[in-house]
Amino acid sequence: MLLTEKKHDFSKSYPVGENFFYRCLNCGMTIPSQTQNSMGCTCGNLFIDTSYARISVDDLQKIQLLEKQVIPPEEAETLLVNLINRLIKEENQHKKLIALAKSKAPGYPFVKGILYEISKSSIVPTSEEKKIMDDLYFLYA
Ligand SMILES: [Zn+2]
Repeated sequence: MLLTEKKHDFSKSYPVGENFFYRCLNCGMTIPSQTQNSMGCTCGNLFIDTSYARISVDDLQKIQLLEKQVIPPEEAETLLVNLINRLIKEENQHKKLIALAKSKAPGYPFVKGILYEISKSSIVPTSEEKKIMDDLYFLYA
């Protein structure tokens, strides 16, 4: 998941929403601001209480607000094509892969098709490429 830090003054408020997450800098655990069930981080610094719609924090200096980055579909496609270009050197293989993915699912699910074809191929993505693929899969699958 692509999460970026969002500077926030927690003495004023705790933003809540499906795109907001809280990370405890003490234990490193990340918790969604909107959870089905109440949950806290492992060290106990951060607790999200759904029944009272309340977020309690012991040490405000030790938490971070994170926002989920949403990649627009066109951008995701460009990113993927660039990824594929780096992954596959051979032109024919590249074209075949694009054609395969497109024939399976034109338009929006194109991203999913590409990810599927990459996962089925012998390509071994680098850890950075793997991260991008995981993020895209999470967002578009
Ligand atoms: Zn913690």
